Amino acid sequence: MAIDFTLDPELEQLRLKVRGFIDRVIAPAEAELLALRDSDKGSYISKLIGLRKTARAEGLWLPHMPEDWGGMGLGHVELAMVQAEAAKAYYGPWALNCQAPDEGNMHTLLHWATPEQAARYLRPLCDGRATSCFAMTEPEVAGSDPTLIRTHAYQDGDEWVINGHKWFISNAHRASFAILIVRTEDEPDEPRAANTAFLVDIPSEGWREVRQIETMHGSTGHSEIEIEDLRLHQSQMLGGRGQGHLLGQYRLGPARLAHCMRWIAQAETALDMMVARSLDRFSHGSLLAEKQGIQWMIADSTVELYQCKLMVLHAASKIDAGDDFKSEVSMAKHFVANTLNRVIDRSIQVHGALGYSTDTPLAHMYQQARWARFADGADEVHQMRIAQRTIAAWKNHGSTRTATGDLPL
Ligand SMILES: Cc1cc2nc3c(=O)[nH]c(=O)nc-3n(C[C@H](O)[C@H](O)[C@H](O)COP(=O)(O)OP(=O)(O)OC[C@H]3O[C@@H](n4cnc5c(N)ncnc54)[C@H](O)[C@@H]3O)c2cc1C
Repeated sequence: MAIDFTLDPELEQLRLKVRGFIDRVIAPAEAELLALRDSDKGSYISKLIGLRKTARAEGLWLPHMPEDWGGMGLGHVELAMVQAEAAKAYYGPWALNCQAPDEGNMHTLLHWATPEQAARYLRPLCDGRATSCFAMTEPEVAGSDPTLIRTHAYQDGDEWVINGHKWFISNAHRASFAILIVRTEDEPDEPRAANTAFLVDIPSEGWREVRQIETMHGSTGHSEIEIEDLRLHQSQMLGGRGQGHLLGQYRLGPARLAHCMRWIAQAETALDMMVARSLDRFSHGSLLAEKQGIQWMIADSTVELYQCKLMVLHAASKIDAGDDFKSEVSMAKHFVANTLNRVIDRSIQVHGALGYSTDTPLAHMYQQARWARFADGADEVHQMRIAQRTIAAWKNHGSTRTATGDLPL
């Protein structure tokens, strides 16, 4: 049995290439981009497109997609390296066209779309000519339990007529299409077989953006959508009838892990900043780095980040091996999301007032990090599933060993 954490020289080269691209091209452009975003939309968009063109010309495009689709054809372990480097800068994943929610939607279309649907929706997404959104959550019912979805579709000849209400649909404001999850089965064999996915062109009659929701990180593209008598042809169904839940779960596994890869990058940035600041700030006779209280924060963050990296690599290796990865991805998502919040919080603490200001990226990172603990599976829902699997392992095998990563120790 081989456990080897070294990278092939080619992969190490690729990792360094991504790092170099982020340092050389993306990081220097970020301050200007953030300023332009609010002041000059036209220049903002053309600058963003310019960054994408540069990334693509340098062979850094779609790390998560097969080469047939213009991607880099990486497995999930390899992808972890690339995502973790790309996300060192806010716009890094976007430049490489591997940002949420498009990245998860590409995986979904790759595996569920018919050839016609793939040509119409996946190809432009891969080429960077289209953007997408995934519309599942509703204000009226708990998003944590998709069996409660109320947005409803009934069949009328070759068409489906859809009515309902969605919110927090990331990227809907800019998207050229949505993957929409609706209830089609009133009496399913089991609750998880009630929903079906559809592809919706945006704009479409019957699909109305009510507003972009103002959040603690601003109004940056999470929309509320009203759906009224939206008519879709049968050919717009993605996957089979009643397979919406399955499709959502399929999408969420790798997409959750990709979030973790990007969160590791953010947590590492926060830890780097914490250490740098502690070596620079002097108080009560010594540097902050020499004080035990500060060292505990550095030590806890270091150990937790190490755990995050091992968990993500292990979960990614399970996806690559074709093994059941649900449990490992769930544990990783829960742990990495919480580590991200803790490490940024500690870094702000060590920076004092500077950390609370917007002179460093920490405040913005903290606002973004908060949703990680409940979106794509709330902490408590992951904990519920983890506990259920652990109890089942004990009942089935008389031991909890298989629930703790099924590792050989
Ligand atoms: C920034 C952001 C982007 C998003 N993007 C999208 C998107 O693109 N598409 C989309 O469809 N949705 C999106 N969402 C919505 C997100 O997926 C939901 O917020 C999430 O699924 C939780 O659903 P909810 O908000 O309705 O919370 P609820 O389901 O109401 O849960 C609220 C809280 O209740 C507790 N809880 C729930 N269930 C249990 C349980 N079984 N046991 C114990 N406690 C429980 C948890 O503490 C949870 O945080 C986004 C949300 C945010 C904040």
